[in-house]
Amino acid sequence: TDGRGIFRIYSPEMGNKMRRHHYLLEEMRLALVNQSFTLSFQPIVHVEDCSIDYFESLVRWNHPVEGEITPSEFIPIAEDSNLILPLGDWIIHEACRQMAAWYNAGMKKVRISINVSGVQLKHRILHPWIMDILNKTGLPPKSLLLEITESCFIEATKETITQLELLREEGIQIAIDDFGTGFSSLSTLADLPIDVIKIDRLFIEQANEKSKYNKILESISELGNKLSLKLVAEGVESAEQFELVRKLNIQCVQGYLVSRPETSRNVGSKVLKQNLN
Ligand code: C2E
Ligand code: CA
Ligand code: CA
Ligand code: CA
Repeated sequence: TDGRGIFRIYSPEMGNKMRRHHYLLEEMRLALVNQSFTLSFQPIVHVEDCSIDYFESLVRWNHPVEGEITPSEFIPIAEDSNLILPLGDWIIHEACRQMAAWYNAGMKKVRISINVSGVQLKHRILHPWIMDILNKTGLPPKSLLLEITESCFIEATKETITQLELLREEGIQIAIDDFGTGFSSLSTLADLPIDVIKIDRLFIEQANEKSKYNKILESISELGNKLSLKLVAEGVESAEQFELVRKLNIQCVQGYLVSRPETSRNVGSKVLKQNLN
């Protein structure tokens, strides 16, 4: 009790956590109005020749007082409050706008990916929502890829799956993100409307000659290749990990070894020159 005979429901840590939660939520509302969010872009490259397959858009928030706040902290809070809806609308619009500009500048073969949250899957009617943004920004459907986590796929309704199928018919690709952490049965892979499997960073991190993770990686790769899905290994940080991925016939890698997420400006100046055809 707190000395007055009242049971304390919250520990001090929980109190701090809730204060932080409310604080960040209010600050995010402001940040959205003041346009303080930005996007960074990380390349996913082919193992074979290190050419860029696509860029993943990752949201960034530089808070005037707190400095950089990570998406792993603020995205879950935004999802709790449905603030992810206006924030997510801004993210997809901004990513498509940027990619359309790169496309028109000559970067025709590279695609852009956007992380779509489960809340968005639930509250947006995906096909008209995405097609409207593509129309407004002038980005061709084939230049867009949506990343949806394995756990969101498990909870997706039949209607959501139908909407995803409609998007695929337009030429938009779908990736299953953080694969291996969501406990979907492997057989569901064959039924889901997907083009790309992004193998969670955990597996690359844990894989070595002795580890069971290596065996799991092997079977994911075998299955993905049999189903003609493109495989991406996330979180490749070392040359050893890159070599392992190559041996396992995983086609693409993402990770600090190749590049950290970059500002649009850096992407423009570094990449555009090499992709002008
Ligand atoms: P994610 O979708 O799995 O994104 C990949 C994360 O791994 C990014 O972290 C990226 O910077 C990081 N990463 C890339 N290569 C490496 C590596 O070699 N080593 C390590 N340790 N990390 C690497 P980030 O940008 O901090 O984002 C974290 C998570 O926040 C994302 O995980 C995603 O779930 C969420 N997120 C980020 N941006 C967005 C967004 O625009 N919308 C939504 N809904 N979620 C987002
Ligand atoms: Ca992702
Ligand atoms: Ca991921
Ligand atoms: Ca993740």
